[in-house]
Amino acid sequence: MKGRKLLMIPGPIEFEPEVLQAMGMATTSHVAPGFIEVFANSLELMREVWKAPKGQPFIVAGTGTLAMDMAACNLIEKDDSVLVISTGYFGKRFKDIMERYGATTTILEAPLGEVISLEAIERELKTKQYKALTITHVDTSTGILVDPEPIAKLATKYNTLSILDGVCSVAGEAIDQEEWGLDVVLTGSQKAIGVPPGLALLMVSEKAMKVWNKRKTPVANYYSDWQNWLPVMRAYEERKPSYFGTPPVNLIVALETSLKIICKEGLSERVIRHQVLANAFRAGITALNLEILPKTNHLAANTLTAVYYPKGIDGTAIVTKMANNNVIVAGGLLSDIKTSYFRIGHMGSVSPNDLIAVLSALERSLSELGHQMELGKCLAAFQNEILNSKV
Ligand code: PMP
Repeated sequence: MKGRKLLMIPGPIEFEPEVLQAMGMATTSHVAPGFIEVFANSLELMREVWKAPKGQPFIVAGTGTLAMDMAACNLIEKDDSVLVISTGYFGKRFKDIMERYGATTTILEAPLGEVISLEAIERELKTKQYKALTITHVDTSTGILVDPEPIAKLATKYNTLSILDGVCSVAGEAIDQEEWGLDVVLTGSQKAIGVPPGLALLMVSEKAMKVWNKRKTPVANYYSDWQNWLPVMRAYEERKPSYFGTPPVNLIVALETSLKIICKEGLSERVIRHQVLANAFRAGITALNLEILPKTNHLAANTLTAVYYPKGIDGTAIVTKMANNNVIVAGGLLSDIKTSYFRIGHMGSVSPNDLIAVLSALERSLSELGHQMELGKCLAAFQNEILNSKV
């Protein structure tokens, strides 16, 4: 379609037509038998996607931040110690949320473009009894990918709950919640899960549910209190009607559709597709003589790429030119360097053709602005990676 815009920000993303069609259905009652079945299926499919057969899923109207808020207010009580492992803007957000519920926080902040070493995390866990630690799997502000597995194992060793902000990772990066021992893995619907914004999704381990059950004080947030939501999730899964707050019916129908698409593709196949596309995309970025924010490719996420604007070229002009070329990308988010980089999302239903379109629009935009590079080289670099990966 002439003039069709390609939405390549790190969420919301381009959604599958089937998901959008599902959303467009005539809204039913939230206790209609058909909808109860959809809700129940969605809860069951979440366990497959999160790889948490014994986990307690929650589907609640809200955003990724609500999912973070829910994890914090249900598991943390006043004066609990929480270790925040931060690789950007969203790590700091978790610190603020934890403190709002009375936690005493310690933040380990990675230098820009890097991660915190396991040694540093273990050293900190030895200093006192932490109730919980938080990890941002992919910090969308920096495009940094953290490996949650060894951190979750350290948390288990030190009897600390592990909470993973998977807003920019669930269904795009490898996650094996139960095998790794993660206690909470949370996300929002608008990223690699592939559903328009509006759902907060959490999977909570048996251990974390027990910790919640043994709270000494009531949960300070009425809407987020699992006391209100747990009976609803259980009832839907038993195919019975229930009510606390009206569920966003159309979004949940879309969620079931998207989770089915994800499971049909296969989780490992989906993660490999994201890896291959991310690697090929970054080969293209390098061929454009651009630099990424993560210090090495190994630390770069598979769901988005953060790229520095070339020196001497007006960044906002690049983003505007991209939009004029019908590709929407996002500006920077990290306050100190906001105007020096931009971000491209490549998650969910993303295909090689989408990324070719992004690279070619970027090449044209940069070329018009006088950036030096060899025309066509980025496309060749991208194609070579894709052809060599056999995906
Ligand atoms: N955590 C991460 C890693 C995110 O990328 C985002 C959204 N960009 C959030 C939390 C907050 O999610 P939301 O905007 O849906 O509240």
